[in-house]
Amino acid sequence: MRLETIAVHAGHAPDPATGAVTPPIHLSTTFEREPDLSFRGGSIYSRYANPNRQALEACLAQLEGGGAAACFASGSAATTAVFQSLGPGDHVLLPRDAYYGSIKIVRDVFGHWNLRYSAIDMSDVANVERAITKQTKVVWIETPSNPLVRVVDIAAVAKVARQAGAWVVVDNTWATPVLQRPLELGADIVMHSTTKYLGGHSDVLGGALVAREEGHALFARTRAVQASAGAVPSPFECWLTHRGIRTLPTRVRAQTENAKQVAEFLAAHKKVEVVHYPGLKSHHAYDVAKRQMSGPGAMLSLQVRGGKDAAVGMTNKLKIITRATSLGGTETLIEHRQSVEGPDTLAPENLLRVSVGLEHADDIIEDLDQALR
Ligand SMILES: *Cc1c(COP(=O)(O)O)cnc(C)c1O
Repeated sequence: MRLETIAVHAGHAPDPATGAVTPPIHLSTTFEREPDLSFRGGSIYSRYANPNRQALEACLAQLEGGGAAACFASGSAATTAVFQSLGPGDHVLLPRDAYYGSIKIVRDVFGHWNLRYSAIDMSDVANVERAITKQTKVVWIETPSNPLVRVVDIAAVAKVARQAGAWVVVDNTWATPVLQRPLELGADIVMHSTTKYLGGHSDVLGGALVAREEGHALFARTRAVQASAGAVPSPFECWLTHRGIRTLPTRVRAQTENAKQVAEFLAAHKKVEVVHYPGLKSHHAYDVAKRQMSGPGAMLSLQVRGGKDAAVGMTNKLKIITRATSLGGTETLIEHRQSVEGPDTLAPENLLRVSVGLEHADDIIEDLDQALR
């Protein structure tokens, strides 16, 4: 099956009890045991598994071309499960401009149990070769990155990691399985904040890990964390995320088409210093992005001439585009990243991050144009 068909059908089948085409939401936390002590549908207790989560996990595994998936209550809970699977003294490599929350988890939460990390510029694979050690257990990749939209060559980094005996985890939140296939490029596990494009409507938090194969050693540990620590999504959250996925390929392609036009417009605007977008020839890794992604995506950032005041002032004049954090919903969002991330941010003061939505591209462009004037 092709991706569009997987998105519509994977994990869905008419309900055998009622014939309902849209799946029911199973709120039950506990499931009846058979006389022989087995369980009819494989669910025992909702923290371990429930029908809505099982359906979503089956769908996510197929979408990424993996063997199994585990869902969590947020992207950050999924990230945390990976690091909870490592031990004191283990070392992790991260991109310096990874999602600031992911770096915070490794530094502030796992600092206490002596997990070591190096945050490096991963856009040059030579930096990975230099920083990797015998203790490195996980190389964490995020591409395109947040908020500078930098691109990492997944296949090249995965090769170095494999030679050093480290696992590769790719945060594929921004690219989605529609545009980027990390497991085919050598990753062991794909991580998602399903809060973003997969849910797709800014109305449900969630996270997921998708493994190359069910029995993968690191994935098995994260599965144990999921069941025992219990940072799991509710049945309704699973249902909403699964519903969102039905339109994922269509949304992501349409949003990418809009973003290409918005990026071209901004790049030619005299009030804009620079646009960070892998679909522009000026991007630092235009060729890598072209090779490893089937489209440049719908996330971009721009730096406005005139510093912080000009950037923030521009957002206050917008009429359609909303000032808000997060991304991947149907509406275009804009965010002054530096003031959100706090003191150790890498975001320049005049940088605005844009999640391009599904409005008409001309309306988005006209709104930006009048605000920049
Ligand atoms: C939002 C986001 C996360 C964190 O996910 P939550 O669902 O907010 O916990 C991680 N990585 C990236 C790239 C994100 O955009």
